[in-house]
Amino acid sequence: MQNKNQTLPSKELLENSFLADLHIHSKYSRACSRSMEIPQIARIGKKKGLSLIGTGDFTHPAWFKELKTQLEFDPVSDLLIFKDLPEGPKFILTSEVSLIFSQGNKTNRRVHLVIIAPNFEVAEEINLYLSKLGSLTADGRPTFGISCKKLVLDLMKISEKILVIPAHAWTPWYSIFGAFSGFDSLEEAFEEATPYIYAIETGLSSDPEMNWRISKLDHIALISCSDAHSPAKLGREATAFFYPLTYENIYSSIKTGNLAFTVEFYPEEGKYHYDGHRSCKVCLSPKEAKALGFKCPKCGGKLTIGVLHRIEDLADRDETYRPSNKPLSIHLVPLIEILSEVFNLSPTSKTLTKLYEQYTSMADTEINLLLKLPEEDLFNLFPEKLTEAILRVRKGEVFVKPGYDGEYGVVKVFAAFEPEEPYLKQQTLFSF
Ligand SMILES: [Zn+2]
Ligand SMILES: [Zn+2]
Repeated sequence: MQNKNQTLPSKELLENSFLADLHIHSKYSRACSRSMEIPQIARIGKKKGLSLIGTGDFTHPAWFKELKTQLEFDPVSDLLIFKDLPEGPKFILTSEVSLIFSQGNKTNRRVHLVIIAPNFEVAEEINLYLSKLGSLTADGRPTFGISCKKLVLDLMKISEKILVIPAHAWTPWYSIFGAFSGFDSLEEAFEEATPYIYAIETGLSSDPEMNWRISKLDHIALISCSDAHSPAKLGREATAFFYPLTYENIYSSIKTGNLAFTVEFYPEEGKYHYDGHRSCKVCLSPKEAKALGFKCPKCGGKLTIGVLHRIEDLADRDETYRPSNKPLSIHLVPLIEILSEVFNLSPTSKTLTKLYEQYTSMADTEINLLLKLPEEDLFNLFPEKLTEAILRVRKGEVFVKPGYDGEYGVVKVFAAFEPEEPYLKQQTLFSF
């Protein structure tokens, strides 16, 4: 069992902060749910407990048009309000781009960057600039053949109030530090544009604790977002900012790293935490992958090197290092997964959806139930086993099985897994 012994945010910290999810996608992005539309996103986002949600995909002309008709600029916060749910979450213009380019010793760099724009006018200028570099209509997350440095320097000419944040910074295929196409530092990737990079998104497979091991990232804010492709995934990771809820405050909080806390997945649950080869069902720790010469012990193919491995390669501190001046990192398990385990129901079953609706309504929001409601209220309102599960999650007492090569990991509150022998012990050590 994992025991994170996590420190929970104080009542004061919870009262003085709001939850934001700054990286999501619309129905116009590849492999995204048709229900990623503003009314659904607003309604479900409210239920999750989000006060601010990124629009995603503002580069897509059809989505941009929808945003302009459905959202209204609020001059008090410089953020956007959904006209049909004015008391719901506010919106902030965000998008993600995929850059594919050559730099240094690698010809096939692939990096995803989140772009945040202060208003429709600036977003429009960004879209005009990007439309000259490639197609904006093919995908809500468009692809361009320019470097990170060029993109950032050009965007800063449009407005210095634009934020550029490397997305899921450690995933092997499409990220700034990824094993296959990434760089070893922000400076190597962004060169003269590095001073404009204030934050990275840690992604599902890594958490702030892992990133703290790299002293070069000490001055960089670590944010967490859902990268949701369907409404149910909204807020599965999120960042809590101190009030006020304004664009200026989001901008300066990211610039200075003054965040309240982040809501994290257990990084083991992410799809690229460990190394491995999915089609052979081979999951390996970084140590095991190294000992095997980065080759799949079943088929001899190349292993996909995960996030933990990359962090170990670049880290200059060990995994026990804990800085005193960083925002709290809170690990939670999505409520639907907890309910599925407690009531022994499939996460997609209708009964479970009903229970989810019922309990989140009783608690007002999912985040209230998972993090905020006092213990005695939980015992008074909810079934005992559910309360026990939530308290265990809050303490960080869970069982984890790491994800690898695109396969999600598993987190369980009660049931331990079949004890799995490390791969090397099973069969390979004696062959060396
Ligand atoms: Zn994304
Ligand atoms: Zn294999």
